[in-house]
Amino acid sequence: ENKPTSNFLRNIILEDLKLGKVDHIITRFPPEPNGYLHIGHAKSIILNFELADEFKGKTHLRFDDTNPAKEDTEYVESIKEDVSWLGYEWDGLFFASDYFEEMYNRAVVLIKNGKAYACDSTAEEIRQMRGSLTEVGQRSPYRDRSVEENLALFERMRQGEFKDGAKVLRAKIDMASPNINMRDPVLYRIAHAAHHNTGDKWCIYPMYSFAHPLEDAIEGVTHSICTLEFEDQRPLYDWVIRECEMENTPHQYEFARLNITNTVMSKRKLKQLVDEGVVDGWDDPRMPTISGLRRKGYTAEAIRAFAREIGVAKADSVIDTKMLEHFIREDLKLKVPRTMAVLKPLKVVITNYPENQVEMLEAENNPENQEMGTRQIPFSREVYIEQDDFTENPPPKYHRLFPGNEVRLKNAYFIKCNDIVKDETGKVIELHCTYDIETKSGSGFTGRKVKGTIHWVDASQAVPAEFRLYEALILDEDMTDEASFLDHINPQSLGIAHGFVEPNIKVAKPQDKFQFFRHGYFNVDPLNSTNDQLVFNRIVSLKSSF
Ligand code: ATP
Ligand code: MG
Ligand code: MG
Repeated sequence: ENKPTSNFLRNIILEDLKLGKVDHIITRFPPEPNGYLHIGHAKSIILNFELADEFKGKTHLRFDDTNPAKEDTEYVESIKEDVSWLGYEWDGLFFASDYFEEMYNRAVVLIKNGKAYACDSTAEEIRQMRGSLTEVGQRSPYRDRSVEENLALFERMRQGEFKDGAKVLRAKIDMASPNINMRDPVLYRIAHAAHHNTGDKWCIYPMYSFAHPLEDAIEGVTHSICTLEFEDQRPLYDWVIRECEMENTPHQYEFARLNITNTVMSKRKLKQLVDEGVVDGWDDPRMPTISGLRRKGYTAEAIRAFAREIGVAKADSVIDTKMLEHFIREDLKLKVPRTMAVLKPLKVVITNYPENQVEMLEAENNPENQEMGTRQIPFSREVYIEQDDFTENPPPKYHRLFPGNEVRLKNAYFIKCNDIVKDETGKVIELHCTYDIETKSGSGFTGRKVKGTIHWVDASQAVPAEFRLYEALILDEDMTDEASFLDHINPQSLGIAHGFVEPNIKVAKPQDKFQFFRHGYFNVDPLNSTNDQLVFNRIVSLKSSF
């Protein structure tokens, strides 16, 4: 596999170690369990685990589960599965909700030191009072409550005496700060809601910007890496660590999030696609989720190689989907067998081939990887070819089959088209061809040449299969803005074809991968494929313009 490229975060760690600011590294991947992970999360996972690995440090998997309304154990389980599948073992599994008691106690420290107060203003009033960049904020009328009163009110908030929204706990920092995050941010809110981990134990929950630095400090995280939109929160992060008198002092660093063309990358939006039935679930192969990519047929190796290649930057950018596709082709090229599948079958009868005879022909499993050996494929009087490999009226330079023309059937013989059978509507339903026994593949025949080679499957032993052909789910290339992405859904993101594969593939298991000659790479669908009805998801076509 490719090596991680050097990046500014790695340089920071090197410097910290050199100057003795730290003597070990702990990073963390801190998902909120409110959805399935997507390829953007993979970038963060790979970055955190590989930075720690390189410096013999540790990486924690921590569920940032401080918002009871949106979180669920289904998401917790899927996140664990996806991180493992990507190839990483966490050095500790943590839940932010396990720290609720400690967080509460730290809030009490703030109150005692005159650094936090209970505020009865509504969310809207608080937003108004915090103001905008062009004006200083207004102080809350509750800002000067005494320590004793604040302690008592905070305790009563915890005891459930107040309704949702009736009070919050706010930090007392600076209503004139040029950084709005520092204008007395909310630390705790009241929410009478059951939590997936703590049940009904709590009815006050810490806000992200209070909870997150405490979580990092409690776990002894040294380098807390997040995406750029948290840059303005860094002073607050440091304030919380300092004023809560935490022993450990983690530091926050920001990097550019991953954006990909024709892709929405936010759990909220992905959940909307699931909830509105635009896709079949979080693991629909059209989704940019780890589980969707896995089901489509992406490998962890390909995703890791992609993440390393795009690297880590300080400025946002949009990566072309083609780059991700490039890495799965590269990964599968030498690994998977190349076989023949006919997606839209047209029957060909080889009229001069003996009835009831079947011969076995040898075919290479992967011409680029001799170690994969050869296989035997049956050939008999009837075969299927692609409908698209025949035309009655060939345009100039058409080298595939048409009346009177001769082509090679891959790994087999030359055949020549003599007759066309049509149904009542005029549709071509069968071709009558003759073959030339002299032209057998591998026989060294040089008598004459043909310009086209087409693939086929022997009809007597063909295995029926469904093929799912995916196109971009989102038509608009740039989905980084908040544009209503639901207006840009591709109505043709899934095409279904019913055809045949070689008999060798009948025993294919879920997640087995193949290259089908001329069609691209395919994966056996893990949910819908059965021995009687194989289902293949197209991972990617063969050609890349990247
Ligand atoms: P989303 O908006 O998709 O829900 P999030 O940031 O709210 O994303 P979290 O569960 O909080 O999701 O994310 C866990 C970690 O993954 C965070 O450290 C976050 O910075 C990182 N992350 C999320 N999206 C991306 C992305 N597109 N590129 C890189 N890192 C990401
Ligand atoms: Mg988040
Ligand atoms: Mg989120």
